[in-house]
Amino acid sequence: MTKLANYVCGEWVEGCGPGDPLVDPVTGEELARASTEGVDIPAALAFARSRGHVALSELSYAQRAELLGKIADTLAANRAEYFRISLLNSGATDPDASFDVDGAVYTMKYFAKAGRALGDARMLREGARAPLSKTGAFQADHFLQPVAGAAIFINAFNFPAWGWCEKAAPALLSGVPVVVKPATSTAWLTQKMVSDVVAAGILPPGAISILCGSARELLDAAGEEDVISFTGSAQNAARIRGHQNVLRRSVRVNAEADSINSTILGPDAAPGTPVFDLLVKEVVREMTLKAGQKCTAIRRVLVPRVQFRAAADAIAAKLAEIKVGNPRNQEVKMGPVVTKSQQASCFAGIAELRKECAVIFGGNPDFARLDADPGKSCFVPPTLLACENAAAASAVHDVEVFGPAATLIAYDGVADAVEIARRGLGSLVASVFSADADFLRALTLGISGLHGRIVAVDPSVGAQHTGHGNVVPSCLHGGPGRAGGGEELAALRALLFYHRRFVVQGPPSLLDSMAERCADSQLLYA
Ligand code: NAP
Repeated sequence: MTKLANYVCGEWVEGCGPGDPLVDPVTGEELARASTEGVDIPAALAFARSRGHVALSELSYAQRAELLGKIADTLAANRAEYFRISLLNSGATDPDASFDVDGAVYTMKYFAKAGRALGDARMLREGARAPLSKTGAFQADHFLQPVAGAAIFINAFNFPAWGWCEKAAPALLSGVPVVVKPATSTAWLTQKMVSDVVAAGILPPGAISILCGSARELLDAAGEEDVISFTGSAQNAARIRGHQNVLRRSVRVNAEADSINSTILGPDAAPGTPVFDLLVKEVVREMTLKAGQKCTAIRRVLVPRVQFRAAADAIAAKLAEIKVGNPRNQEVKMGPVVTKSQQASCFAGIAELRKECAVIFGGNPDFARLDADPGKSCFVPPTLLACENAAAASAVHDVEVFGPAATLIAYDGVADAVEIARRGLGSLVASVFSADADFLRALTLGISGLHGRIVAVDPSVGAQHTGHGNVVPSCLHGGPGRAGGGEELAALRALLFYHRRFVVQGPPSLLDSMAERCADSQLLYA
């Protein structure tokens, strides 16, 4: 069985031992194994910090932006192979694979283009100079300098392509070498993409490394100048943040964790109105795209009590049209979740929700799936649940079923809708569908404190919105509280995580000479 090699210290190294299996979630066939055993992880980080960092810091922002463009071209050229791996290792339909792979290439291209604006600079100068003496002989400037360590990415299984690219693009643009640790169960695609970038000889030695398998002593080896960007469960986010070495060295951590995202239908939106139909379409798309395995997917659907039955019927009717099964069958619209353990976790979560919710659609483990053996495959049926007493419920606001499940919730008035959405205790995204401008505004202001992104759709926006669950590189991705408290993307603002602010107090001549190497940090907000 092929073992995915790790790329560290400028070399491909196979881990020792049997490794962990990567499995086709449709056929149950083992595809490859991954192991980091025996890999010298501290040496890998040291190599990235020394060779990778030095080589990248010799380049300007614009030169590094050019490298991102070449990475995007290389990845785009291998798109078909990435779709093949997505199908084999994630059971992805073509739209699922596109969401991940095309999203990755688009994000890389976006930063390649945006990064040119920073030109020949090597650093950023921030804000106005501060006078510190009566004569002006002693003044101060704030600078943003790329961190001199490595950017360590610990990623979730559901975005093996986009997950590392959306982090690597701003990190490499900042001049920070990247060490990618994909989730083991779907590491093949990430490893193939990184190996294509390495083979293309685009980046200097040490600028990119990959570890396929357990993180092992990665966190113990993190240093003061490294940064860690984690994406995964809230539980592991807390574990990483609380790691002894991370705490002792104050290693900067960005966490993108799970989230009980809401979509909310306005009181004006009766069946037959455009916004009602748009919400129904979005709920079904969010539940079934990537089999609901998106951190941004809709988990709670809030509707005015008077529309509860109509919304339930409309969503259930659309779900009934979705054929679930082997994506190699052209009729199939929704594939499996990625592993048997994810499947078990989804069914356990649905069982938890059923303790306080009725089932409107799906929920039965013995459902029909096309061209797949139930014993070997990892399917979960699209499942819509009903909660008519949100105040008394608890699991519905707390249990993330990371699969094709959502709960329809009745609300009574705007204050109640706000209260219910906020019970997610911090979410990546909420969407609001209404033609009532006052409702859109009141709802948005009511929930903004606990949400990273709010999508407002009225008839003037219509189908032009980019999607509840779609993360675009020009806008913020991340949410407070349970969602991890992290911030990613938001155009060039993403570079802030990979820079460290310091201030120099001294003679204006020194400040002037330092400023020669700098672009204005305002460009990050352009
Ligand atoms: P996970 O189990 O938390 O794993 C995430 C990553 O952490 C994997 O690479 C995993 O490695 C690694 N890991 C686990 N324990 C670790 C430890 N003690 N030290 C260092 N690394 C460790 O999450 P998942 O099951 O892959 O992904 C699903 C979850 O991610 C969902 O809850 C979803 O909401 C969340 N998610 C959030 C976002 C977002 O942007 N907010 C995006 C996607 C997914 P191994 O695979 O080798 O165990």
